[in-house]
Amino acid sequence: MPSVGIIGSGMAGLACARHLADAGWSPVVFDKGRGVGGRVATRRLDGDVQFDHGAQYVTARDQGFRSVIANMSKSGAAIRWNVGSGDPRFVGTPGMANLAKYLAKGLDVRQGMTATAVRRSDGRSEIVVDGEVSHYFDRVVVTAPAPQALALLETQETFLSDFADVKYEPCLTLMANLNTEVSEGFSCRSDSDAELAWIANDSSKPGRTGKGCWVAQANAGWSAVNLELDLNSIKTKMLPLLIRELGIAADAVVHSAAHRWRFAKVVQPLGRRFVRNADATIYAGGDWCLGARVEAAWMSGDAIARDILEAP
Ligand SMILES: Cc1cc2nc3c(=O)[nH]c(=O)nc-3n(C[C@H](O)[C@H](O)[C@H](O)COP(=O)(O)OP(=O)(O)OC[C@H]3O[C@@H](n4cnc5c(N)ncnc54)[C@H](O)[C@@H]3O)c2cc1C
Repeated sequence: MPSVGIIGSGMAGLACARHLADAGWSPVVFDKGRGVGGRVATRRLDGDVQFDHGAQYVTARDQGFRSVIANMSKSGAAIRWNVGSGDPRFVGTPGMANLAKYLAKGLDVRQGMTATAVRRSDGRSEIVVDGEVSHYFDRVVVTAPAPQALALLETQETFLSDFADVKYEPCLTLMANLNTEVSEGFSCRSDSDAELAWIANDSSKPGRTGKGCWVAQANAGWSAVNLELDLNSIKTKMLPLLIRELGIAADAVVHSAAHRWRFAKVVQPLGRRFVRNADATIYAGGDWCLGARVEAAWMSGDAIARDILEAP
């Protein structure tokens, strides 16, 4: 069976690896981070204080992704969050990262390994890790955000001009643990014109036991202007905005931290499920192919796996 190396253990990389593993293949996933999930992330503090500081929830319109979410729900890794109108929203339990952990079960995922180059070499595809160790595969799949994928591949692959136009917006995120009640029934609010475009009472999501955990996301403009500040300065600027919005006293904040998502949300996707080179030995995909949603990332990774399985 051909060997497959996958860069990225976000939803795209895991969807690809899961599909291949379920078909009896043995993909190897490399990720530079400490945990699986990429932008589907949960930051844990002491005890049950935790924050979904990346994706807030998922929706599922695609039949394949719907059945994945249904299976996750059956196993207790996902649950419906009854807020908002439109498509039903689901969250991971006890945190969003559990959606990724569910997909990663039993896979060969190697964390803390940064791919620094991907190239064809002696008829095989080579992933260079940390600038020095080479891993060879028959097929390589890159699921890093488009600009990072481009940096890995650009000298070797002409097809990458296809996605040089993909555009992202950044998102600065604040996590705050409060020791006070905020207005009853506040789950979340969304307003792209407000400096804090999204505010969520994370503790109000189902399946959480922690109390007073809040997440706020700055809007795209505010995030772009403040993107290069250090995390402490970002926190210091965002905290008063949240305090004002929630109408709480400053000393109600017992813990806070900021996170910078440089490639947070795709605003100009590619419009195809993935790209690959002419002989189908190097693939690239992720949310940047179809749009800024977890479901889009999953669809891209799953489509790559199908293509690999169908290749002669
Ligand atoms: C703040 C925020 C809020 C969001 N809210 C929602 C929401 O509510 N609902 C929704 O559906 N979507 C939401 N999204 C979008 C959603 O999170 C993404 O579309 C999706 O998770 C992207 O998955 P991916 O696998 O394509 O990329 P990623 O999750 O970015 O995964 C890529 C992985 O590649 C790894 N990587 C990158 N470069 C290398 C390298 N050189 N070597 C090794 N590993 C590497 C990274 O560490 C990462 O784990 C949100 C995103 C953000 C940032």
